[in-house]
Order: sequence, then C-alpha cells, then structure tokens
Amino acid sequence: MALSPMMQQYTKIKEDYQDCILFFRLGDFYEMFFEDAKTASRELELTLTGKNCGLEERAPMCGVPFHSADTYIARLVEKGYKVAICEQTEDPSQAKGIVKREVIRIITPGTVISQNMLKETENNYIASFFSRHGRTGLAYCDVSTGEIYATEISRGEDADSFETLLNELVKIKAREILFNEDCTLDTEEVKRITEAYFNPLSADYYEERAVQDAVLRQFKVKALLGLGLEEESAALFALGAMLLYLHETQKNSLEHITWLHLYEMGTHMALDKATIKNLELTETLFEKKVQGSLLGVLDKTSTAMGGRRLKQWIREPLNNADEIQERLDAVEVLVDDLLLRNNLRENLKQIYDFERLSGRIACGSANGKDLIALRNSCFVLPEIKGDLEETDSALLKRLGREVRDLKEVYQLIDTAIVEDPPFTVKEGGLIKEGYSEELDDLKFSIRDAQNWIAQLENSERERTGIKNLKVGFNKVFGYFLEITKSYYDMIPDNYVRKQTLTNCERFITPELKEMENLVLNAEVKINQMEYELFTAVREEIQQHIREIQTTSAAVSALDVLACFAQVAQQNNYVKPQIDCGDEIQIEKGRHPVIEQTIRDGIFVSNDVWLDRKDCSMLLITGPNMAGKSTYMRQTALIVLMAQAGCFVPAETARIGIADRIFTRIGASDNLAQGQSTFFVEMSELAYILNASTEKSLIILDEIGRGTSTYDGLSIAWAAAEYLCNTKKQVRTLFATHYHEMTALEGKMKGVHNLNVDVAEENGNVVFLHKIVEGSASRSYGIHVARLAGVPELLLEQAEVKLKELEEGITAPDPNFSGTAPSKKAEAEALEEQQISFFGFAPNPVVERLRALDLMTLTPSEAFRILEELKAAAEE
Ligand code: ADP
Ligand code: MG
Repeated sequence: MALSPMMQQYTKIKEDYQDCILFFRLGDFYEMFFEDAKTASRELELTLTGKNCGLEERAPMCGVPFHSADTYIARLVEKGYKVAICEQTEDPSQAKGIVKREVIRIITPGTVISQNMLKETENNYIASFFSRHGRTGLAYCDVSTGEIYATEISRGEDADSFETLLNELVKIKAREILFNEDCTLDTEEVKRITEAYFNPLSADYYEERAVQDAVLRQFKVKALLGLGLEEESAALFALGAMLLYLHETQKNSLEHITWLHLYEMGTHMALDKATIKNLELTETLFEKKVQGSLLGVLDKTSTAMGGRRLKQWIREPLNNADEIQERLDAVEVLVDDLLLRNNLRENLKQIYDFERLSGRIACGSANGKDLIALRNSCFVLPEIKGDLEETDSALLKRLGREVRDLKEVYQLIDTAIVEDPPFTVKEGGLIKEGYSEELDDLKFSIRDAQNWIAQLENSERERTGIKNLKVGFNKVFGYFLEITKSYYDMIPDNYVRKQTLTNCERFITPELKEMENLVLNAEVKINQMEYELFTAVREEIQQHIREIQTTSAAVSALDVLACFAQVAQQNNYVKPQIDCGDEIQIEKGRHPVIEQTIRDGIFVSNDVWLDRKDCSMLLITGPNMAGKSTYMRQTALIVLMAQAGCFVPAETARIGIADRIFTRIGASDNLAQGQSTFFVEMSELAYILNASTEKSLIILDEIGRGTSTYDGLSIAWAAAEYLCNTKKQVRTLFATHYHEMTALEGKMKGVHNLNVDVAEENGNVVFLHKIVEGSASRSYGIHVARLAGVPELLLEQAEVKLKELEEGITAPDPNFSGTAPSKKAEAEALEEQQISFFGFAPNPVVERLRALDLMTLTPSEAFRILEELKAAAEE
C-alpha cells in the first residue's frame, strides 16, 4: 500500500522541518499528523483522531481551526516547541490535483509577531552570541518592531567578558538565544541565568561568506564598513548567523529590519540580574508585579512604544555625563512648560503602536484597521514637530526633527481606505469611493440592482399587503422573501417556494434571482479588486518603513521624557546635578516607591553623603524594621534614576556618575534550583567583589546572615576591608546586624557609622526612620517580635535569656552590653570574642559543622543534618 498523494506531500514537507511541529493547512483547519499529532494533542489537550492515509493503519491526527490557531501556537511556543506553518499557496478552486503547499513561517519563542502572542509593553528579543578564541560578539533583534542591535563584547581573552555577556542577555530579557554550538563558554550557565529558549547553531551558519552576504543584503549596503562593522569581528558573526536564522524562519518578511544599531559596551550602566531584581526596577521581587516597582511609579507614558522605551531606559541608565545632562535638560523644559508638555502628551495619546505595525506591514499582515490607526497617528505628527521647534532643549529639538510628518503615508491612507474597515482584507469594504475609478464603476454598475433589492421589502409589503414580509439573505439560498404562517393565504403567484421553516416559508422570484446573480458576481470581482488595491497601498507604505521607524524611535523617546516630566511634577522630584566626580550627596532623599505606598504616616526623608576620600563606606546599624534597607535602596534608586535622565525624589541631589550599581539585598534564595541561600549569597558577594570598579556603587545588606554568627561576622568584616583597601574605597552602603562592625570606623579609612534613630516610650519602641550619625546601641529584636504579635510569655523568657547571654558573652568587657560602648572597647571586645571562639576545645558538634561543605548541600540535606546536630547537642 502507498501513502495517499496528500500524505506524500505532507511527509515530503515534514522532512525539511523535523525539529518543528508542522501545522498543515487543510481547508479551515491546521492539521497535525503522526508524532506531531501525539505531541500536540498531549500539550494542547486536543482529541487525537486518525486519518486515512493510504496505509493500513490510520495516521494519528489532531487539528485546530485556523482562526483560533494563534492561541494554540502561542501555547506550544511557550512550552519551547518550534511551530512551522504550512499554508496552501494556490487557490484550491484553481488547483489541478493536490493544492500546492509551502511552509511560510516558523514560529519560535524569539520570533513571534502575532499581536496576541506579544506583551504590548515588552520587547520580544531574539539574541545571538558568537564566541571563539576569546572573542565574543552579541546581536539581538525584536522581529515585531524591527529593532536590531549588535556589539562586540570582547576582542580577546578577558575574564569579565562572560559576565558582560550574561548581563547584556539578562538586561534585554532575550526569549530565545542562538549561539555557535562549538563555543567554549559555559552555555549551561547562560541557560540557567537567562531561562531563555536555547538554540545552538551548526557551523553552516557561521561560514564567512554567507554571514557577510546576509548582513550586506539585509541592510542593503555594499561594504561592512558602511555599517561600522569590522570584518571577522565576533559581532559580525553573531549578527549574520541570526539573520540567516531569521530568514529561514521568517521567510521573506524582514523588510522592516533596516537599521543596525551598533553600540559600544560601556556606554550604559551594566546592571546584573540580582540588582535588577533586588531593586525591583520593573517588577516586584516576590509577586512579579509592575505595581510596587520603580516602573510602576514612573510609567506615565502615553504610547505602547514609550512604555517599552521607558523599561529600556530604566534597565540601562547612561553613564555618559553629556547624554544624561541632555535628557535632564529636556525633562526640565517639559516640567517648566506645562502647555508644551500637555500638548505633547495629548498628541502622543493619539499615536498607535506603529513600531510594531511596521513589522506587520513588512510581512504583509497589516489589515485595514491597522492602516487607519497609522493614519490617525500620522495626523498628530506635524503638530508634535511644530511644537518642538522652538524649545530650549537640544534633545527635544533633535527628536522633533527626527519625527517625520509622514504626509505621503497620511494622504495615501486617507484617500484609499474607508474610515471603519473590517478586520478581514479579502471580503471588501476597505477602499474609499473616489480612489479607483474602475472599482467605483464596478460598484456603480450594480447600484441599481442593490437599490432594487433594498427597496424590495417595502415595495412587496405594499403590493401584497403582507405587513411583516421580510427580505433576507443567507449563504446557501442567497436572497429570499420570508412570509410567516398567518399570511400563507396571501402568497402571490409569482413566488417560488424555496424553504419551509417552523413558522414561516421562504420564497424567491425569478426577478430577484436575476438581480442577485448580478450583485453576487460583481461582488466577487469587487472584493478581489479591493484586496488588490489594498495590498498595493500596503506595499506603497512599505517604501516608507524606514521613515516610520525613525519616527517611532523619536516618538518613544519623547514619550519617556514627557513621562519623566509628568512624574517629576506629580511626585515632587528635583533635577539632580550630574558630574564625573566621586561624590554622592543627597539632601532629604526619599524612596520613590515606598513614599507612594506608605499607608500610615509620612515618609521620613534622609540625607546621604558619600565620597571616595573620607566617607566611602556608610556602615549602617540599627534595629530590624528601622529602615536600613529602605535607605540603601533609595540611594541606589536615586542614582539610577538620575542616570536614566529622570528627576529624583529629594530636595537636592548631586550625583558623581556610577559605572555600575551592585546590590546584595535580603535573603533572596534560589531554593528551587537546589542551591542554599548562603551559597547564593556568597556567589553574589564574590561577583560584586570581582566585577566592581572604582566608579561603582555597592549596596550590601546583611552580608553573612546565612551562616553562623562568627562565620558571618568574619565574612562581613573581611568584605568591608576588601572594599576599602583592595577595591580602593569604592562607594559602598553596608547595612549589618553585626553590631561589632561599627568598630571599623576610625580603624579603616573611609568607614563612617550611621544608625537609625529609635525612640523608647514607656518601654515601647518607636521607629523614627531617621538616619543619624554613630552606631546603634541595641538591636531591639525582642521589641520587633512584640510588634509582630509574638506571645508575651515567650517575650519575657527571651528577655531573661538575652540578659544571661549578654552577661555571659561579654564578661571580659563590661562595656560591651547596654548603652553605646566606646569604639575602642568595642573593637577589643570583638577581638576577644573571636579569639575565644576559635580557641574552643574540640567538640563533636563543632567538628561535624566544620566538616560540612555548605556549597554542595541541598536544603533538605541541610535540614536533616541540622536535626542530627540538634539531637547530638542535646545529649
Ligand atoms: P530594615 O532594613 O532596617 O529592617 P526596612 O528598610 O526594611 O528596615 O524598613 C521597614 C519598614 O519601615 C518599611 O517597609 C517601611 O514601611 C518603613 N520605613 C522604612 N524607612 C522609612 C522612612 N524613611 N519613612 C517611613 N517609613 C519607613
Ligand atoms: Mg533590611
């Protein structure tokens, strides 16, 4: 037995797409067969059926209706499958034999463009890196908007380049990552950190000629130099391989990728994953919500493009003083000129996401509604341009010039497309009267017939006297006259019965049929003609894609600047002073998010003074819940906002630019990945100590908490020393519950003690959230426990115990407990404690602890060992 011809066609196509699930178009359905059918039915909960395929056994099959295919495709892609879409490429009614079919697109996580698979406010990047002999290059692209970037990460062996690559990938949140499969980097680590869909490419993609050609062809240039790309650079290979891959998956719809942004590493502040997460820049740490993040406070953008740009600006603040200054000056103009700002924001609201639209125009999937939206957006562009001509800001002026008025596009759509077109493009109703004479003539030729049909209901009611006679239309019978039961005795002679329903009968007349023929035949032609005219319009607009993209890039930047101005005014922010110095000086700084969400009471503002000479490390002690973490985060956020070009929540701020911000905050744990909290904490610390430079800003919050007291204290102590000495007094905010560390002030250059003020009223603790000079006297843990509702009896026990412990431990130095000790006494106390600790006689529990390798422990093992230790200790 042989496969049926259609299944032969299927298997032939499938051969080329082994790694994809093949969606095979059959009429109104996409069908899947064999293994694909089994996979898809399992993943999508579809019923698995069978199809007669010519063989003895039926082929496993399942299918989805074509009009709802997007959601199914989205689910498969989400689960990490590639989907190949195979369409009928000729009209079935014209086909001789089997209809021709071809794969028209392959959809992967990084290449989806359908609107309902994309998040409006989020770019969808596919990234590609190439690494060989120590050279590493990166390219990435949002296929839905046409933005494409490339950069050279490193030109030779260099230990930091892997981290740099990781940071870039994390920052852009690539959904899919391509790379040369022979690359020697730790790709497993890349996969773990980025959580992206991974796609190693074979050597075929990295053939020098092919790579160069792909790049030259895409950007329509004759020489690489024209793009600023060096021959044989790693960036070129990353970019070229990605273009080859995109051509393979997207086929011919990459016309909108026209403009390569070649960028230099180091022009932006590099933020690592932990910092982006910990500072809650674009989503909250635990609930992953925008509300409650910095983005949530700042996002007053008016367009979807602006929303995406804002996210980008927050994730990659600038570190070039001139560029920052330019943005700040633009924001200032918009803060001061209310009229300009309001006009701009009102106009921006009319602008549709034409950045994404350019992608749909390029691949020919834009419909009539899209074009009308584009026209409406173009309408406001001249006004935006005009408004910006006169401003005092160089950046606003430049962006104003970059906004094109797109008059031709506006005119074209305005004359060609009707005001309210349908979603479909093949069923007519798209083209305006007056645009095409031929079309108008055709429409006119049937106008009489259409009028006649339209009038028919009235005229027949009058003629027959049947008051509720109706004229209707359906696909099977065409036009008909409908008469209800009660009038059956009045049916005229010339009516021919066509269909009997429960309460009525349907008729036709020869004359009606004639008119119908005329109309329907003409309508097929009209629809075809409208479709052709529409595609011609769309292709014409394609010629303007570059202008549309320049415009949308300018519009999105304008949107963010206007948004910064709006937020600055609403939330009372000030323009920071930016310089290349080492100082960070903030007067009455506030936390931009907490000041908005705080429920009872007002936010207490605090000052910051950091410089690399005398005051490089602020060591902050104070009870739990006092506001240490808040103070440190707000400092980081203010620096970051300033460098993004945003005004800041403070009374005055002077920021010496930081090349990077690092944070190690709280007990974020990767337990799900089988790593202990302490291990994560230490690897983050190691990373910070290695990667920070003299220009960085470091936030360390409760380092060493995940291990025993002395262990933790020693690590924290050593980290502080390392930052002050080896790292040449890099600017650091260091909060710790190890009170002993305050002894560092005076001993080590640059260390300065701060603590958070607490008042005691009738034995109750009141947090004042005010940062003051000096070290904290007590930790107030028991008070905090009381606030949290721990039973009183337990608290009394705890107080007794605390007293015992304090007396016991600090016996060698009477100064240690109680009120603030002198610094010298404190340091001595510390030294003695360490000596006494390390001098303990061997004890089985301690020995066991010593032998443990914390790096390899899983949480459950740790718990089991803890149980055993406890049992041993009790003995
Ligand atoms: P710590 O790190 O010292 O334990 P946090 O910084 O986490 O304390 O602050 C605890 C809570 O105190 C915050 O969630 C916030 O509600 C409040 N808080 C902190 N700082 C301030 C402030 N400056 N003004 C008002 N409330 C504050
Ligand atoms: Mg804290």
